Amino acid sequence: LGPTLCIGEIIVEIVATTTGDGFRHPQPLLGPFPSGAPAIFISQCGRLGGQSAMIGAVGADDFGALNLARLQSDGVDVSAVALDPEWPTGSAFVRYRADGSREFVFNINHSAATRFGWSEPVARLVARAGHLHVMGSALSMPPAREVIVRAAAMIKERGGTLSLDPNLRKELSGGPEIAELFQCLVGLCDLLLPSGAELFPAAGLDAPDTTEAQAIAHLLQRGVTEIVLKRGPNGASLFTPDSVIRAAPFQVDEVDPTGAGDCFGAAYVTCRRLGMGAEAALTYACAAGARNVTAVGPMEGAGTLAELDDFIRTTARRI
Ligand code: ATP
Repeated sequence: LGPTLCIGEIIVEIVATTTGDGFRHPQPLLGPFPSGAPAIFISQCGRLGGQSAMIGAVGADDFGALNLARLQSDGVDVSAVALDPEWPTGSAFVRYRADGSREFVFNINHSAATRFGWSEPVARLVARAGHLHVMGSALSMPPAREVIVRAAAMIKERGGTLSLDPNLRKELSGGPEIAELFQCLVGLCDLLLPSGAELFPAAGLDAPDTTEAQAIAHLLQRGVTEIVLKRGPNGASLFTPDSVIRAAPFQVDEVDPTGAGDCFGAAYVTCRRLGMGAEAALTYACAAGARNVTAVGPMEGAGTLAELDDFIRTTARRI
């Protein structure tokens, strides 16, 4: 089958412990946690026992070492993660507001995450990958973007598969050329994993004039074969050309929502690639997302297959 591949930012995340005026005053912080949407995704794939590999870069510093150790302990192939001798590992600070919304401060622009490129180890990995998962956040960084575009074309040409998580972050949004590239990738992808209102830009349609059903129909018509719509605490829905499956959410106490979508996507992709049916994969995906929000840190609640089995057996679902 070849490994599942993810390309993009590997950073650390630091979490504010107060709500309110954010980082304008000293306060206790939590972290550093290994992070970066592509890194969270691939770590969860590896932790579930799927063959997985990462392309990106970290600095030759403690934050880089922390991330490499996590990826390796989750069984991820890091042969194509470069060690940047000069630029540091990037970071993101996240704070939660009293209304539950959140804000990120990214220190990525002059970090290792923004300057890795095509190399021998990257070429070797892409040559044997069976699936590429693209995170929208990585498209805002030109070097990652170039590697993604080249890898996507090669993997699809060989008969491999592609999934796409829009993962739109206003702090990492790009210009019109990114929107165009994004639409090209939607046209290439087999599986699309938007979260809530991301469905509409993913379909290239305006939300106020379009219903969810119209956006889904448009995407299916464009050739996406599976669309999994993430609905946060309300669970998720799967749309294929012949079926709609709604998955009820697991009932958990959410302490940190960041990373839920990445763990959810990783579980769905990994379970499908391990040969599971769509409905079973959707259950594992909902469990992975729900379990992950119960711990502080973007991937501290990511589970193994056995841990997800246990979670599914012992956690009630809200019908
Ligand atoms: P992020 O960008 O923070 O990684 P996302 O917006 O892509 O997340 P969400 O919709 O927040 O993704 O979460 C993914 C999935 O995880 C949901 O579809 C749901 O199944 C599960 N999930 C998330 N939050 C909760 C919650 N509070 N309770 C139960 N399940 C949850």
